Amino acid sequence: MDERRWSGSGTADAGPSIPPPESFVSRANMREDPREEFDEEWPGCWERAAELLSWETEYDTVLEDDEAPFYRWFDGGKLNAAANCLDRHLEGGAKNRAALRWEGKRGESRTYTYRELAVEVEECAAALSGLGVVEDDVVTLYLPMIPELPVAMLACARIGAPHSVVFAGLSADALSTRIEAANSEYLVTCDGYYRRGDAFNQKGKVDNAVLSVGHDVRATVVVDRLGEDLPHHLGDDQYDYHDLLAAHAGESVEPVARDSRDDLFVMYTSGTTGEPKGVVHATGGYLSYVAWTARAVLDVEPGDTYWCAADIGWITGHSYIVYGPLALGTTTLLYEGTPDYPDRDRLWEIVERNAVDVFYTAPTAVRAFMKWGAEYPESHDLSSLRLLGTVGEPIDPRTWKWYYRHVGGGNCPVVDTWWQTETGGMMLTTLPGVDEMKPGAAGPPLPGIDARVVDPDGEAVDPGEAGSLTIRRPWPGMARTLYGGDDAFVEEYWSRFSDPAAGDWVYDSGDAARVDPDGYVTVLGRTDDVIDVSGRRLSTAELESAIVATEGVAEAAVVAGDGIYAYVSPEQGVDPSRGLPEVIGTNVDDAIGPVARPDRIVFTPDLPKTRSGKIMRRLLGAIARGEDLGDTSALRNPEIVGELRETIGEE
Ligand code: ATP
Ligand code: MG
Repeated sequence: MDERRWSGSGTADAGPSIPPPESFVSRANMREDPREEFDEEWPGCWERAAELLSWETEYDTVLEDDEAPFYRWFDGGKLNAAANCLDRHLEGGAKNRAALRWEGKRGESRTYTYRELAVEVEECAAALSGLGVVEDDVVTLYLPMIPELPVAMLACARIGAPHSVVFAGLSADALSTRIEAANSEYLVTCDGYYRRGDAFNQKGKVDNAVLSVGHDVRATVVVDRLGEDLPHHLGDDQYDYHDLLAAHAGESVEPVARDSRDDLFVMYTSGTTGEPKGVVHATGGYLSYVAWTARAVLDVEPGDTYWCAADIGWITGHSYIVYGPLALGTTTLLYEGTPDYPDRDRLWEIVERNAVDVFYTAPTAVRAFMKWGAEYPESHDLSSLRLLGTVGEPIDPRTWKWYYRHVGGGNCPVVDTWWQTETGGMMLTTLPGVDEMKPGAAGPPLPGIDARVVDPDGEAVDPGEAGSLTIRRPWPGMARTLYGGDDAFVEEYWSRFSDPAAGDWVYDSGDAARVDPDGYVTVLGRTDDVIDVSGRRLSTAELESAIVATEGVAEAAVVAGDGIYAYVSPEQGVDPSRGLPEVIGTNVDDAIGPVARPDRIVFTPDLPKTRSGKIMRRLLGAIARGEDLGDTSALRNPEIVGELRETIGEE
């Protein structure tokens, strides 16, 4: 960011506060604000997170900073993540409680109790060991949202083999790059899976990918997801998952006691801003942090049916479908399908049938629900819901309110959680039983988190002013390093605002934000997404909020081209030629000022998105400026890029 200040207020400013409903507060896991205590006790406060786990060997210290910014949490401690997610729930009364409820793409459902899940995880662990996997071998998991994915993750964790989950929709190329980067010799995948009812060949992609890996892949385990629909041939060193597990039926495998600092997994970022980065998470700090935040923020309780509708192929699924909820002994729901198949009420039908208590999704999904119309959620009984959450992108106030009203019925707090693959878990958000909500602001930093919005010199900016979002103190969920190496880790996150000579390490999130006088943070987008208009710096999130506030607009993305370009996706049944551009222009004038009025509004049925559902503004900017698109491997809907190129080129 350069020396100039960002523009002032806009609709991205949080609206009036909404207190959490009393019905929620009276039973919330956290009813008192622990922030002051956390600050006084820091870093000792994080013992409260560690206490949520069972340790094989107690740790010596909460935090070691002698190798900063490579911090070690709960150093000297030993634990096993799978034992924490399974074994300890088997003692006590929880063994027959549902751990996992799976809703398949073809309408199937399957439930695993904690005991059943533990049995399959041990069989899978035995099978992997039998193939030669030993502690610290990286196992690549290339699976869709089927129960075998969390089973394989926990099996890896049990034997101390870090997993590298590759989102199932990624290409053969992306798979081979990740196998190679991790020097991974073992792979678990499937024959194929269903996409909107059609069988899709996954094994073909795998065979191609493996051919181009520079080292030997010693064993590939193939889950038969499709049965007869797509027979697959097993080559050398390829094994059928179910046969393999049957050969190890009933075997028990002792959980390996891992050092707290040992790797639990590697996970790639979404690739929204460039090439995806491989982020490494250690065991003790990460697991403590996701358990603590799932309890404090998602209010997860053992008796809940909890549903995070993300994909396990991204960090949200790791932290808040698998590790956090299972560490707390709750029932976590796993959904394989899409939100609109067979119909647009699919998610609400699942919520009703399973009496889901807590629902966590992405703003892009909520904007799609809004686009389709309130009749879909309203045609189901959603009264089991107690809490709603979002993650992944800023949520504009209009979308927030729609979610609060039409899905939550005005009775459920909405937590807008800001965090990153690198942070491991949530960083900024309201504590739902404690804090008032402000639609449009993620919220204050969580207890123990020292987030600051700073100017280019690293000085905190005044309330209302925008700057870079930084984190000052380490936290347990933080990444250990990057796959690209320790230097890349320091360069990417710790170089801009730190003063290593003074031992002063500051984490640079790469996001821009603004704080209000109450300490609520509004995330404005990436620092690189800023638009410069006549010397004023405008945030894309702010402009997009003003546009989405327009009745009839479902989604918008703003970028700099020859002037300000707004790509706008209208709601279902709305004809944009009937005055919509004028209303958008007026709304932007009112919210920010005429300087921010888009020079060009391009209507489009959809926007280019990453496979994890984020708008790729970088590509829209390149289209607007007629530039080369660069790395598009993260793109989910390439067809829209071609269409937009044509539209822009023609006009
Ligand atoms: P890459 O780092 O490869 O460009 P990415 O940053 O999208 O991809 P993730 O780690 O999945 O990869 O996403 C983290 C980013 O998502 C954050 O830096 C932020 O920009 C955005 N984000 C997540 N949650 C929120 C939120 N509640 N409000 C605003 N932005 C959010
Ligand atoms: Mg990122």
